[in-house]
Amino acid sequence: MQYFNHHTHTIFCDGNAEPEEYVKKALELNFHTLGFSGHAPVPFENKFSIKDEKLEEYTDTVRRLKDKYSAQINIFLSLEIDYIPGITHSFDYFIDRALLDYTIGGVHLVKNRDNNKLWFIDGSDSSVYDNGLKTLFDGNIRKAVETYWWQITEMVATQKLDIIAHIDKIGMHNRDRYFIEEEGWYKDNVWKVLKMIKETGSIIEVNTRGLYKGRSNKTFPSPFLLEQIHHLQIPITLSSDAHKPEELDGYFDDTLEMLKDIGFLELLYFRKEGWKKQNIRE
Ligand SMILES: [Zn+2]
Ligand SMILES: [Zn+2]
Repeated sequence: MQYFNHHTHTIFCDGNAEPEEYVKKALELNFHTLGFSGHAPVPFENKFSIKDEKLEEYTDTVRRLKDKYSAQINIFLSLEIDYIPGITHSFDYFIDRALLDYTIGGVHLVKNRDNNKLWFIDGSDSSVYDNGLKTLFDGNIRKAVETYWWQITEMVATQKLDIIAHIDKIGMHNRDRYFIEEEGWYKDNVWKVLKMIKETGSIIEVNTRGLYKGRSNKTFPSPFLLEQIHHLQIPITLSSDAHKPEELDGYFDDTLEMLKDIGFLELLYFRKEGWKKQNIRE
């Protein structure tokens, strides 16, 4: 199957190669589509996002590549936008400012609504997750995880969101230590969000990064959630969340087989006139 990827990070944020290196690799891999989705600027000090003053340079660079390679591959401009209520800009702000082709929304920082402190749930170091849970949420895993899902729900309900990034990232550092996804309260939170997504029409990405980085033994969403997503017939796309060109198709073959086993028939990919379906069984 001819692959594609809408979720990639370059040296403009926390990726480690120039955008053009990703284009060259995508051509080598015979991709039909490549989307750039640097982390959108956030209004606080951090090491992962595009700096606000670098945003125009990022968008100009992607647009130049789009023109330069237009005969060979479809290149699109996006941002992976963090959603932290009361802190981050709206998705509309970035759509208007950067003229994005599509948006990817994600939650990497969970805001404790009692003290406004932020719990970082991503990254390679699980002690950051453990310490945040202890100090920001008094070790109350259910409260912390329900706050995460509340934030996802708010994002889905209020933002112009095309693709939802790694929807159950909250489980990455958990590794079944604090909760398991089969627990009733967890399933209730997930189900509520999925039903809302079904209404709003956002696309759920199947993100393979945890697998090829060895941080997770499952995709985001997990196969357990994907069964429910399939049951609700919510559209999906496949992305690797690449931070290096060689990660562009990381674990795609295995994940595609898993998706077929669950019963999925197609993946969505972007075109200027709208999202298109690609049959995965041909
Ligand atoms: Zn992300
Ligand atoms: Zn990402």
